[in-house]
Amino acid sequence: MKTLRSVKGMHDILPVDMPRWHFVEATYRNLVERFGFSEIRTPILEPLDLFVRGIGETTDIVEKEMYAFTDKGGEHLGLRPEGTASAIRAFIQHNVGATEPRTKWYYLGPMFRRERPAKGRYRQFFQAGAEVIGVGEPAVDAEIIDMAVAFIVSLGIEDVVVKLNTLGDSETRPAYRSALKAYLEAYKEDLCTDCLRRLETNPLRVLDCKIPACGEIAAKAPSVHDFLSRDARAHFEDLCALLDHCKTPYDVAPQMVRGLDYYSRTIFEIHVNSHSLGAQSAVLGGGRYDGLVKQLGGRDTPAIGFSFGIERLLMMLPQGTAIDAAPLFFVAGVGDGGLTRALDIARQLREQGTRAEISFAGGSLRSQLKRAHRLGAQVTIIAGEEEFDRGAVAWRNMEDGMQEEILLGDLMARVEANQ
Ligand code: AMP
Repeated sequence: MKTLRSVKGMHDILPVDMPRWHFVEATYRNLVERFGFSEIRTPILEPLDLFVRGIGETTDIVEKEMYAFTDKGGEHLGLRPEGTASAIRAFIQHNVGATEPRTKWYYLGPMFRRERPAKGRYRQFFQAGAEVIGVGEPAVDAEIIDMAVAFIVSLGIEDVVVKLNTLGDSETRPAYRSALKAYLEAYKEDLCTDCLRRLETNPLRVLDCKIPACGEIAAKAPSVHDFLSRDARAHFEDLCALLDHCKTPYDVAPQMVRGLDYYSRTIFEIHVNSHSLGAQSAVLGGGRYDGLVKQLGGRDTPAIGFSFGIERLLMMLPQGTAIDAAPLFFVAGVGDGGLTRALDIARQLREQGTRAEISFAGGSLRSQLKRAHRLGAQVTIIAGEEEFDRGAVAWRNMEDGMQEEILLGDLMARVEANQ
């Protein structure tokens, strides 16, 4: 029989890798909660239309990468490819704006895109993100960028570069779109077939085409900065001034557009020089999406957010990042009644919040010590018949093999001191 395997581009995350995952997730939760963000969890499946309307019909994600299907009841559903559209759907559905006009949410979970699998590119990957809904001032843009940088830096990742741009507002877009279209028309012969289509549907998308010939054309395209409305320009300048004040380093990247249609005004990416992913790569991206709440049926509400892929960040964690697991105690019960003595002690340890393991099969002390080593225990508590009758156990330091006898009455205090 053919062995069943996980779906192409989708991976198991095995327990041996979990400490690194937990480290990133805990660092993130800890940081964003200090900034006043609360967690939201939304379903993985959503009405397909949410993503089509939210992310944009002409984006690569919706056009090529969605896992979309019709369920047995005839509903058109999609596996979420990102988290923002769902967060905004939930914000509108629960009328959150009425009670919490400045909403700060974060999320974490699996996302799905049917991309060509490659190193650092999967079909199921984990993203975490943050959204501020209801605040339009540039100060929130500065704070969210600062928070994103603080997070990456707190993981011990160095060589962080913030790339920053503005896409202007609804006043900017039509003029820029026509200028861009007019420019691109002259290169019709050289654009890829996708971009020829994008030229008609959404010329901005040509700017993030990954095909080198299109990239060269895009590099010389008119800049959105020449078309910014007064408002959009002032917003961008205020943001830059605030980032300067916070000493958050950034590079303005005038041609950067990002792959989702909902962005307006500020967009940003955090890039890291990476050996494992080759050259420089984006680990985090985000921006303002002032039109999205209204577009999805809510009130006109400004919003901004970012997201990052956890797998890619993990590839960039510095070698030897210290990920402390709580110490493990092994309890070896030897002799008659060994198993029940071990069970009792292990139960007490666990009640006290300590990690403890025993050998279910009992066996000789030698074999139990071997198992303790294999599990990586720091200490083995040996509960032998004779010592136990004297009200004592042996405490064995697994690193140097040193062993001493301690009274049962002192055991829990000693364990606590070794946490
Ligand atoms: P995006 O939602 O496209 O702006 O992507 C935000 C972040 O998610 C990226 O910077 C990556 O870290 C991560 N990401 C996006 N697509 C994938 C993928 N197919 N596999 C792994 N990570 C991804």
